[in-house]
Amino acid sequence: MRANYHRRRLSWFGGCLKQSKVFLGQDRLAPAELARLREERLQALLAHARERSAFYRERIPAGPVALEHVPALDKAEMMERYDDLVTDPRLRRDELLGWVETRRRDEFFEDRYRVMTTSGSSGRKGLFVYDREGWAAIGGQFLRGSTWFGVRPKLPRTRMVILGGAAVTHMSAQGGASLGVGVHRVLALRVTAPVEEQVAALNRFRPDYLNAYASAAMRLAEEQEAGRLRLSLSALSTSSELRTTAMTERLTAAFGVHPYDLYATTEGLLGAECERHDGIHLFDDNCIVENVDDDGRPVPPGEPGARVLVTNLYNRVQPVIRLAVADVMTIHPEPCPCGRTLVRAAAIEGRRDDVLSLPARGGGTVSVLPAHFSVITRDRAVREFQVRQEPGGVRVLVVPCADGDPELEARLRDAVARALGELGAEARVEVERCEALARPGGKLQIVQAMPG
Ligand SMILES: [Zn+2]
Repeated sequence: MRANYHRRRLSWFGGCLKQSKVFLGQDRLAPAELARLREERLQALLAHARERSAFYRERIPAGPVALEHVPALDKAEMMERYDDLVTDPRLRRDELLGWVETRRRDEFFEDRYRVMTTSGSSGRKGLFVYDREGWAAIGGQFLRGSTWFGVRPKLPRTRMVILGGAAVTHMSAQGGASLGVGVHRVLALRVTAPVEEQVAALNRFRPDYLNAYASAAMRLAEEQEAGRLRLSLSALSTSSELRTTAMTERLTAAFGVHPYDLYATTEGLLGAECERHDGIHLFDDNCIVENVDDDGRPVPPGEPGARVLVTNLYNRVQPVIRLAVADVMTIHPEPCPCGRTLVRAAAIEGRRDDVLSLPARGGGTVSVLPAHFSVITRDRAVREFQVRQEPGGVRVLVVPCADGDPELEARLRDAVARALGELGAEARVEVERCEALARPGGKLQIVQAMPG
């Protein structure tokens, strides 16, 4: 049984590697050629969805269709109509959710499907299933990103660590399990494991490349600076959480490499920073990305949208067409000097971290982005923090690096109050120290708006 499992993983890894080569060959397509490739894949997807999905048959007109003539979709509706939306009738929402809850290790549903869930800020679970080809495309995109970071398959095999989601249903955990064969050696570590355990495992494994949530990487930077962790990395990337400039500087100092940003969503949109470190190239040869405002109208480059509509061009079993993803993005108006023609997001905020709306001096409100709280990460005494909005202001929960810094609260309160004041906000700031922060699903939400 396990031998069979291993053989299948090997063949999947082969698929990932093959796809990554195709994707890397598309990095610098002429814009017109890229648009043609996208359109061809889109029409094939729309025809497939219309033929095989009862849900999409109602929504997609016959013949070649302009994407904007297909209604946008939100996660609640996707989950509501899940059983009609998928193209394999064996996939049933309630059964899948029940099945995935009881998994204790990496497994396939019906011997062929990857099943993943997302928590989402609405509290409603999202369910995403990929078939063999689709899952290899996810792996291929991950390898594409790591190739950009300078991680190349080599002998002896490259050693990668993916420090990721706590749940086996999370994409990073399954990604680690899938890629851990072949030319790379991959160790998947849980971000919720005690830091002493992470340090011991990392010192034993000696990775060349580490990918971690930003807050988890920061925790490891502290261990590296203290000499308990002894990594010699050739590449480092962070994903899923806010990484401020101050955090980037500290990670660079601790590990001697400039960290890259890797962007991955379970919906299937992935992206990565190139060597210019100026925004994230979205892999829009594999997904169509529409940046839209609150009313669903397209937002021009240079301006922040309210959410993005994602059309996944490679998931055939669960077609994702114009699905709203709650990321606040600004598309860079200029092509990247690196020559890659993939669209570039100048900034991605939101999703895990909320944009706060705080009272302004003299009435009205001021929008405060997660990055505005970078003054907190600049303080060396801070291990990690979380900002929670409260009536009339914010409460900053801080886990200090060591006890016995009696000035910490006052210092942070002043720094945050000053930063908010410069934005024109009139907000009360409280700072409270605590032992640990909650990480539902393994990720830390750094900024939390008031519910409602
Ligand atoms: Zn670039």
